[in-house]
Amino acid sequence: MRLSICLLTSLALAATLQAQRPPASLLAASDRIKAEAFRTHGAYRDLASLCDGIGHRLSGSPELDKAIVWAQDRMTAAGLKNVHTEPVMVPHWVRGAERAEMVAPRAQPLHILGLGGSVGTPADGVTADVVVVGSFAELDRLGAAVKGKIVLYDVPYAGYGATVAYRFSGASRAARWGAVAALVRSISPVSLDTPHTGVMAYDPTQPKIPTAAVTLEAATQLRRLQEAGVPVRIHLVMGATTLPDAPSANVVGEIPGTERPNEVILLSGHLDSWDVGQGAQDDGAGCVISLEAARLIQALGLKPRRTIRVVFFVNEENGLRGGDGYLAAHRADLAGFVAAVESDSGSEKARGFGLDLPKATPEARAAALAQLQTFAPLLERLGAGRLVLGGSGEDVSPLVAQGVPGLGLDHAATHYFDIHHSEADTLDKVDENDLAQNAAILATFAYALAQSEVTFR
Ligand SMILES: [Zn+2]
Repeated sequence: MRLSICLLTSLALAATLQAQRPPASLLAASDRIKAEAFRTHGAYRDLASLCDGIGHRLSGSPELDKAIVWAQDRMTAAGLKNVHTEPVMVPHWVRGAERAEMVAPRAQPLHILGLGGSVGTPADGVTADVVVVGSFAELDRLGAAVKGKIVLYDVPYAGYGATVAYRFSGASRAARWGAVAALVRSISPVSLDTPHTGVMAYDPTQPKIPTAAVTLEAATQLRRLQEAGVPVRIHLVMGATTLPDAPSANVVGEIPGTERPNEVILLSGHLDSWDVGQGAQDDGAGCVISLEAARLIQALGLKPRRTIRVVFFVNEENGLRGGDGYLAAHRADLAGFVAAVESDSGSEKARGFGLDLPKATPEARAAALAQLQTFAPLLERLGAGRLVLGGSGEDVSPLVAQGVPGLGLDHAATHYFDIHHSEADTLDKVDENDLAQNAAILATFAYALAQSEVTFR
């Protein structure tokens, strides 16, 4: 009984909080922000400059170095203060030349992408019979029968989190039984014969075998051949290699708070991408949305009471050294971070924000969510009133693990995994109006949070 009274009271409180009409000054600021976002389309112009001018940007590549210079120029041009880089060392994996072909029952080229972190093959490649499996359990049932073979994981997409283990640890699982290479069906719900790469890691107790993604078309064809009793043989050549760690840097700029400069609202995306396509949605979009949010606030002469800081992290895709390095450099001022916000689920229209507070008690987490939901009336006007738990980003996760409230801009992501980590992640997939809307949503939220007493803790 007492519990239900408690529950009713907190529901009533939440309803009261949600029903509060935002102050007229915030409504006016939000309207001006949106109008400016759609008048200037600055986020799209930035993304076009990044994608078409520099292209993809893997950690350790000259393109990422160029993007770091580009980002400082753009932040400075946007009127941000204290624009600087914060150095970190990043892994330096290089794909090299790669190709694969079916050599039996007939010659047929296969579109592949080596997985990030993979070793290469000998110069003349690996040629072996293929065993197609649909799960780790099926692999383990076959056991030593895969010795000397190429294992292909043909696992239908059942959501990214549910399927990505085959990409991440499939090579070592197959090597344990003596396989000479591992192929994985691309982690994507649909395909136009486009392979999708992504990071993998080796179990240090197993031999390192080369590993690559194949397309859905190829994976299902090879399975059909196996089921028909037709032996399949593949020739795989990969020039992949890992060089010594390379110098790189996070890029930072900010609007210092007028009243509480030590209270920081961090807006972020990651500047690195895979070495294919243009890294347009992953995560060029998150970077330009974050920068544009700050620029809109700056351009309109709004004066945030708290500091709004934009961070472009590096090395989200294959190491998280940017996120880890940022924590290491700012350990002493963690108490000042009001929120670490990340946009890393594409460019489609955002529905709201997700909040992560893993160190908080369930009661404290519920209270923080209620605080977040006080912004719902303001954000609903922009179609982004869905304020829930969960879903902040990878780059801010080291901060969040230390107790900094983490927030993720929650994009609709209906087609995100169709092109994720593939040659098809290019600017033409990004909608200019969605990008402007997302920048307006993030700017409105950041500004309102900067003017508020909300701490989420
Ligand atoms: Zn990403």
